[in-house]
Amino acid sequence: MRSSISSVSATSLGVPGPNLRPAEIEVTPEVIIRRQKQQRLVLDMAGLSFAIDAAILLIYAHAGTTSYLIGSTYGLCGLLAVAGFIIISDPTIADRFGDHYLVELQSTISLSIMLVFAYIAPEVGCLFLCSIFIVYTFAAIRSNARQTIIGWTSAAIGLTVLFMLTDKPIGLPVETPLERFATLLVFILVLGRTMAVGLFRSSLQESLYRRGLELKQAYKRIEELAELDELTGSLNRRSIMHTLEEEIASARHSNMPCAVALIDLDWFKRINDRFGHPAGDEVLRAFAITMFANIRSIDKFGRYGGEEFLLILPETSDGAALRTVDRLRLIVADLDWSAISNELHVTMSAGIATLNPGDTADTILARADKLLYQAKDLGRNRVTTA
Ligand code: GH3
Ligand code: MG
Ligand code: MG
Repeated sequence: MRSSISSVSATSLGVPGPNLRPAEIEVTPEVIIRRQKQQRLVLDMAGLSFAIDAAILLIYAHAGTTSYLIGSTYGLCGLLAVAGFIIISDPTIADRFGDHYLVELQSTISLSIMLVFAYIAPEVGCLFLCSIFIVYTFAAIRSNARQTIIGWTSAAIGLTVLFMLTDKPIGLPVETPLERFATLLVFILVLGRTMAVGLFRSSLQESLYRRGLELKQAYKRIEELAELDELTGSLNRRSIMHTLEEEIASARHSNMPCAVALIDLDWFKRINDRFGHPAGDEVLRAFAITMFANIRSIDKFGRYGGEEFLLILPETSDGAALRTVDRLRLIVADLDWSAISNELHVTMSAGIATLNPGDTADTILARADKLLYQAKDLGRNRVTTA
């Protein structure tokens, strides 16, 4: 039965995380856009956080603990700071600082605002001191070790200065029910914001994990592509030669026979000349597919060069190899090429060598090559063995 030929063709990165120096990550437009989006989200959260604190301060003002001026000025300072961060977070400006997320600048300014207000309004100082935790929870997402140490040191120095400068009690107002309520809000909402930052952080980690997986898959695909011949999808020359060396070592180790067939398509130049190079390519592809469909899973098949292929038959003696390759020769000779032309006929010749003691990949290939040319001399469309 004649089998028919079907046309079968053989067949990116930036990661969120702590600040990396510009040289360590390629700054593509995609990276810049993603960075801006994340930066904007963080700044929106910071703006919201200042607004929440300002609202609680207004409750304290209503309770008579502090003046309305403190709440409104604090809210205004916070919003102005965030607006300033939005302006300088533009990559053209931010990259000049060598810190695309401006972690140091943002946390220092926020820390300063909180310390200054804790000094001006110590009667509601607990709110500002608690908010410092939020600033550093935000900063921890983007900080490297150096920035973490600098951040902690400046907070420690700032707090020391504050505690030395003021002798007024830094308040945790809980005298009236409204004060108790506002102080309760301070704790609950600081906790809530810290947890929200934690969620943001885990979403970044998840996207980091996903990118890692994508990278792994891309790497695997690159490895496959590096091993395969683009046209036929069979192993490329480098890979089939490497496989041959491995099979020789394994045959020697297990004391099993191993046969190697060097296969060459007959009169291939004429096929190209008569039916065109694309048709020649199609013949090579279909030939490889036919081979794959008719060999065992342990056999290895690769393109040695041009229209020459190497078939490695592990655990196969000379006689069995001859029968196998001759069966393949008959299948090829019997293929139906009418999809290209009724006048196209393709045959192959092969030389088979079996592994001798002391053989290397080169010596066994040299014998197979000699036998292949005997097959050509004897008229082609045949298989020869020693
Ligand atoms: P023989 O029976 O003696 O092997 O004759 P031949 O014509 O097959 O041998 P020759 O080595 O003279 O020609 C091989 C041809 O294979 C020449 C080259 O153009 C063609 N060829 C090599 N690689 C490719 C390829 O990737 N695609 C196509 N279409 N042709 C190729
Ligand atoms: Mg040829
Ligand atoms: Mg050739």
